[in-house]
Amino acid sequence: MDGVTRTAPDPLPDPRALRPRLPSPLQEIDDEPFARRGIRLLLKRDDLIHPDLPGNKWRKLEPNLRAAAAAGERALLTFGGAYSNHLRATAAAGRLLGFATIGVVRGDELAGAPLNPSLARCAADGMHLHFIDRSRYRRKSDPDVLAALHDRFGAYRVIPEGGSNSLAAQGCTELGRELRETPDTLVDTVAVACGTGGTLAGLAAGLGPRQRALGLPVLKGGCPHFLQETVEELQRAAFGGPRGDWRLDDRFHCGGYARRTPELDAFADAFEDRHGLPLERIYVAKLLYGLTTLAEEGAFAPGSTVAAVITGTP
Ligand SMILES: *Cc1c(COP(=O)(O)O)cnc(C)c1O
Repeated sequence: MDGVTRTAPDPLPDPRALRPRLPSPLQEIDDEPFARRGIRLLLKRDDLIHPDLPGNKWRKLEPNLRAAAAAGERALLTFGGAYSNHLRATAAAGRLLGFATIGVVRGDELAGAPLNPSLARCAADGMHLHFIDRSRYRRKSDPDVLAALHDRFGAYRVIPEGGSNSLAAQGCTELGRELRETPDTLVDTVAVACGTGGTLAGLAAGLGPRQRALGLPVLKGGCPHFLQETVEELQRAAFGGPRGDWRLDDRFHCGGYARRTPELDAFADAFEDRHGLPLERIYVAKLLYGLTTLAEEGAFAPGSTVAAVITGTP
């Protein structure tokens, strides 16, 4: 540029330059189904951490971005479905911090079609989208699939689907620590919606001894839910063994990922009306729907406090 030769290397990208809002706000809301049973409901507003990397996506990506920068890596490759919040967050991080990004997207039939709004955002942020067929996508951790990607795209850091690896789980312990007992508040139960389980693995590890974490999977999983083992495995990788008191309740996926039922939609519409808070529908609406059902079933003792982690924005 301007005929000037640049000699100094670019500065290392540092995610802290993005000024996340941390700790995220903890907000008490007065919600009738909880109040009627003497239960305090708090919203842990992780959706407010950063406009482009909201919620657990910030907490999971930040340590991965720092590790990539420290290793001198300037490209990130990751995986996701056509509506993946994780792909969008990775693309935004790339734009903001100067990483090249490659998104490997499930479904080669999407390659010729117009991009949906979520993928269009990824592309506008500079992400190179690479579509692969579903059977190959299922084998995305196999050496031959990874080798083919390496041949095509060269050197990059791989971040797994959903961003959930051991660094991500370590990053999410901070969420638990922010919710530890204070002189005026003991949160008994912290609940989070689960996709790949990295957030729950870290959250449970960060909580105090008198607290428990509850995960509500949004994917249909079979019995026992495959996430049980995934979270155990993530905790082994991140912390060397099991941490914290956590469990899954598999009853609120409403048919599976991105599926909905009339009951779920009615609940989410009514909650939004009561509180003027638009709900992210794939994860957060199912979380609050599940928690409300549990409160109605008497799962939380009168006098107890429940915190729902608002992991993302609509
Ligand atoms: C990605 C995501 C989750 C799932 O987090 P996992 O760590 O994959 O379990 C939950 N909520 C929202 C809004 C998300 O975007």
